[in-house]
This record gives sequence, structure tokens and C-alpha cells, in this order.
Amino acid sequence: MTLMECSVGVEDLVLLEPLEEESLLKNLQLRHEKKEIYTYIGNVLVSVNPYQQLPIYGPDFIDKYRDYTFYELKPHIYALANVAYLSLRDQDRDQCILITGESGAGKTEASKLVMSYVAAVCGKGEQVNSVREQLLQSNPVLEAFGNAKTIRNNNSSRFGKYMDIEFDFKGAPLGGVITNYLLEKSRVVKQLEGERNFHIFYQILAGADGQLLKALKLERDTSGYAYLNPEASRVDGMDDASNFKALQSAMTVIGFSEEEIRQVLEVAALVLKLGNVELADEFQASGVPASGIRDGRGVQEIGEMAGLDSGELERALCSRTMETAKEKVVTALNVTQAQYARDALAKNIYSRLFNWIVNRINESIKVDTGEKKKVMGVLDIYGFEILEDNSFEQFVINYCNEKLQQVFIEMTLKEEQEEYKREGIPWTKVDYFDNSIICNLIEHNQRGILAMLDEECLRPGVVSDSTFLAKLNQLFSKHRHYESKVTQNAQHQYDHSMGLSCFRICHYAGKVTYSVNSFIDKNNDLLFRDLSQAMWKARHSLLRSLFPEGDPKQASLKRPPTAGAQFKNSVAILMKNLYSKNPNYIRCIKPNEHQQRGQFSSELVADQVRYLGLLENVRVRRAGYAYRQGYAPFLERYRLLSRSTWPHWNGGDREGVEKFLGELNLSSEELAFGKTKIFIRSPKTLFYLEEQRRLRL
Ligand code: ADP
Ligand code: MG
Repeated sequence: MTLMECSVGVEDLVLLEPLEEESLLKNLQLRHEKKEIYTYIGNVLVSVNPYQQLPIYGPDFIDKYRDYTFYELKPHIYALANVAYLSLRDQDRDQCILITGESGAGKTEASKLVMSYVAAVCGKGEQVNSVREQLLQSNPVLEAFGNAKTIRNNNSSRFGKYMDIEFDFKGAPLGGVITNYLLEKSRVVKQLEGERNFHIFYQILAGADGQLLKALKLERDTSGYAYLNPEASRVDGMDDASNFKALQSAMTVIGFSEEEIRQVLEVAALVLKLGNVELADEFQASGVPASGIRDGRGVQEIGEMAGLDSGELERALCSRTMETAKEKVVTALNVTQAQYARDALAKNIYSRLFNWIVNRINESIKVDTGEKKKVMGVLDIYGFEILEDNSFEQFVINYCNEKLQQVFIEMTLKEEQEEYKREGIPWTKVDYFDNSIICNLIEHNQRGILAMLDEECLRPGVVSDSTFLAKLNQLFSKHRHYESKVTQNAQHQYDHSMGLSCFRICHYAGKVTYSVNSFIDKNNDLLFRDLSQAMWKARHSLLRSLFPEGDPKQASLKRPPTAGAQFKNSVAILMKNLYSKNPNYIRCIKPNEHQQRGQFSSELVADQVRYLGLLENVRVRRAGYAYRQGYAPFLERYRLLSRSTWPHWNGGDREGVEKFLGELNLSSEELAFGKTKIFIRSPKTLFYLEEQRRLRL
């Protein structure tokens, strides 16, 4: 047991004394300096991104951690993975591992470490090997299509991911199911300065051989593509060409056929070529502005690849058919509208391609057997976000984090309660901040912000972001967690920083101001029917299958669910899934904004500590008893404190612990003797024991 080695801070923040934000930060900083990136809060793991390869991973370390119990070795992600896996295998408890943190904090690396640990310990044999390989190889495929270089992270996942890994009764892997959330599809057509599009585009251009490139009708030079940011085409330390080879082999291992791989690459190439379709002003005879294609060759090539008549494609891009009950009216789009249509098409093709890939992987790794499965879920999802400009995307992401916080509090308290019950110890009530009021504000079926947004999107008449905001202001003017320029009153300080087109939510992690601009548009997420119908006519079977609603027979007038409703629905499914499992938490922290080793910015970390709710976490965790330990290891460590138990003790473990603690005159409130564990209320008592032990060594 190495709980308290003071030169590296405490290994468990539950033992922090005094417990304040400052001491918590100091402790993390001290440990970061000593390259101790992992720290516990009870069974929660806090991980600070080291931005350097530390010699603490790999087979030797895996072997070490699989043979010890949780507190016997230094805090480590393997220890957490081990506890989760053993509890799944030996106690039949389904597990979930929730990994949160902001971009660049190390979530995806953590999820891969967990997967590789589980893969290493879950058994042997040919069947196991092949399932294991398929599961592991899903990572490079999803990363190629779903990750990109951003300012914060060279390999940033631009989607949320939840993966259930399924095991048989012996704990051998059978397969899995992946769910993806909210791919950032706007990136397909536009990237911020210094950022890149999704890796796949660069991988194809760098890695495809001449023949493939020709078949895809692409040129190797990245600067020829309007959708690829010209100033960022390479990423330090990333080899796009060799990643392309790795992608192809990963797809093969998973079970994509050669034909499927080719079609996937063709669709990606189509997206890139679509970006180069230039639209120009044209005028109809009447003088009404319209648009046309500037250079027909690109559209021609897209048509050839997609198996589409290029005239049809041009019509779909440059005009829009409005259907009323009686007639069809075709109107010309002006250049701006046509460009919007083109970009909407590109984003839709790409995001649907991504969903198709996830489904295709699931088809390969899904488990058919009817026998009861044990499940370990791994959630790698964007943490709480406060950017300079927060829009619809941040709103739904933060809603998801609000829900995850709710799961966290409820499950931690429930777990504590259950442990006390198992151990036969009376439960004391804990006060904590209940965030259901904020969750309700957002998700309430009739009166939540998302419901209001949907209502506004469906309402006939003139709707706009500002009518939506007006509705919110009216409805929530008295809500404790809602603010806006209009509703600001004596309750809230007048704040000049908030614009008129904004509203603000007081989340558990802090206040976030959202700008309502494009909320309606993003929630509607509509693709002109002309475009989906054109795509459905493509002879390219994969492309065509991505647009089932383009089938005129399918073209019911029922609109698809809004983006907000879809997200709310998938969050609800996720929550249900998580509540049925035993949770394990990994809280990831980014120590600096520069992806640099050895730098620790206290301010930056302080924000994250707040967003992750770590102080609250420690508080909840030690509301009852801060520390607990099995009788045997506890006796082993401290029995030297008494002559009755040292050097010899022949009785039982529990009796031994009772014996030497009894002689120490500790307040009876401080201790509780459970069925298998000793519980200690305050860290001070543990420090006292530690101190006494040092004196005697
Ligand atoms: P997130 O998924 O939270 O956005 P990533 O997991 O992609 O962040 O991590 C960002 C980068 O940080 C990685 O590409 C890697 O360089 C570095 N990193 C993260 N975790 C570790 C780790 N445990 N050891 C070494 N480097 C790490
Ligand atoms: Mg990631």
C-alpha cells in the first residue's frame, strides 16, 4: 500500500487535508511534476495528460496490475481496468467506464489503454484473438474518418463514442456494439485557421498509389482542394501515408470487403470533389438571379463516379422544387443558396458515410449467440465546453455532460449506500447539489428548451432564432438557472458581456452564454429534397443507400426528427444503459494549452477541476467514511502500532484490527467495523495512523 508518499502528494484526493480547490490543484501539480499522472478519488481515476511517453504501460505493467488489488500499487489506469474487468468476470456485474474531460485531455488514449488492458487479460485462443483484433482495429478506422487536427489536439475525436464490449460467462470477448454521437460535420466544408479536415482526406491523398488516385479522380497535391485548409496540410509526427496503409489493413481485419473499401474511398473522394464545384452568378431571362456551374468538368467527373447524370446533379444543386398539394414549383437558387446547398450535400454525404461505417463495423463485431452476455461499456465523450462563442453544438454537449453529472452523483451515492448496506454499517444522509433542475430546464418534454426549439422549428409562419429566444425569455424569466439580457433583474448582476441574441444557463460546472444564431437551422438539419432525390438516383450502390428518403416512394411528408430530438433520444438511451451498469470513472485533465510536456497551468487546470466537479466528487466520496480497507491489508500495514499485534498475531484479521485500534483511544465516531472492511471517517485519523507508523519504522 502506498497511499501517502508526501513528496509526491497524496495518491487519493479523499485524503487531502485541508480539502480546498487550492490544495487539490497543488496536489495534482506536485504529482504532475513527478510524472505521477494518475491520482484517485476513491475509485475514481484522475488522469493528467503527460504529453510524453511514460514507461508505465505495456505487458510488464499489465502483468503487475493484474496480480494486485486496487490500493497495493500506485494509482494507474490498469488498476481501474482490472477492478472493472474482475468485477464483470467474477461477480457478474456489468461495467461501464466513463471517460470525460475536455479536448486534448487524454480521453481517447485512456479508452485505448483500457481496451488494450482488457484485451490482454481476457483469455487466449484463436477465437479470442480474432475478436480481440477486430475490436482493437475499429479504433484506426473510426479515427481516420472521425478525427482531425484541431488547435487543441492533433488527433482530436470529432464525435462521441460509446462502445459495449461483450463477454461470455468465462470473461472471453465475444464482440461489441459501437454507438457514435454528433459528428462535427461542419468540419467537412470549413476548418478554423491552423486546423485540418478529417484525417481520411489527407490519408488518401498521401497514401493512395498512383492507380488508386487515378481511379478516384484525385490529384496528390492537397492545395488543389477547396475543402482542405491550405495552411494546414501536415501534422507534426503524423504520417498520413502510413496511416492510410494501416486504415486499409484495419478495415480488412474487421471484415470490409475490397469492394466495400473501394466504395467508401470513392464516396470520400466525391465529397472532396464536390468542394471544388464552383458556382457562378447567372440571370434568368426575367432578370431574377440564379446560379450555374462555372466549370463543368468537376461535375462531369462526380457524375461518372457516382453513376449520376451530371445535368441532374447540376439541377439539384442550383434549383429547388417546392411541392404544394396542387403543384410543383421549381425556383432557381442564387449563388449563395447554391453554395449552401452544395455544402449541405457534402456534409450530409460525409456524416452519413461515417454512420454507415460505424454500422458496418457493428455488423462485423456483433454477437449472435443467445447466451447471456456480460458487458463492459466504454464512453469517450466530449467534456463540458465553454468556448468564446457557444452555439447549438456546445448546448447539446453541455446538456449531455449535465446528464452525466447526474448519473455520477446518483450512482456514487447509490454505490456508497450499497456498500454500507453490504458491510452492515448505518447510512448517514449526504447533502449534495442536485442538478435535475438544470436537466429539466433543457429536456422537459413540454416545457424544456429543446421542446421549445422543436416547437419553433415546426410552427408555421415566420420563425427565427430571435422568436425562439423571445419564447425562452418569456417562459424562463423566473428560472433560477436561466438568464438573458431581457430577464436580467435585481437577481442577477447586469452584465454587459452578454449580447441581445444570447441566453445563459447556470450549469453545475459554471455559467455558459449561448448565442441563439443558427439554433433553428442546426436543429432542423434539413437537406433539400432535390438533393436527396438526386443522390438516390446514383448507380453507386453505397452512395445511393445513404439517401433512402430520396426514394420517391418513401417520400412521405413526415419530417425526420430534429437534431435536438435525436440527440436527446440518444442521450436517454445512453443514460438507461449506464444506469444498468456499475460505473467506473476516468476524469482526464489537460495541463496546458500547448500540447507540451512538463508544463502545468494552474488556471487552466482549475477550470477543468470545476467543470469535472472534482471537489464535489471528493466531498460526496468522503461524506460518510473517507477511507475504507479490507481487514487483512489494513492489519498488515498498521499492526506494528501495538504490542498485542506486533510482532506476532495469531487471531483473525478483524479481531487484530479491533485490538490495535482499541488501544489507540480513537473516538468511536471515527470508526466503523463492517463485515469485511474497516471504515474510517476522516482523513486526519488515517494520517495519525500513518504518522505513528512512520515513528515506529
Ligand atoms: P482527447 O481524446 O481527450 O481529446 P487524446 O486522447 O486524443 O485527447 O490525447 C491527446 C494527445 O495527448 C494524444 O495524441 C497524445 O499525444 C497525448 N496523450 C494523451 N494521453 C497520454 C498518455 N497517457 N501518455 C502519453 N501521451 C498521452
Ligand atoms: Mg478524443
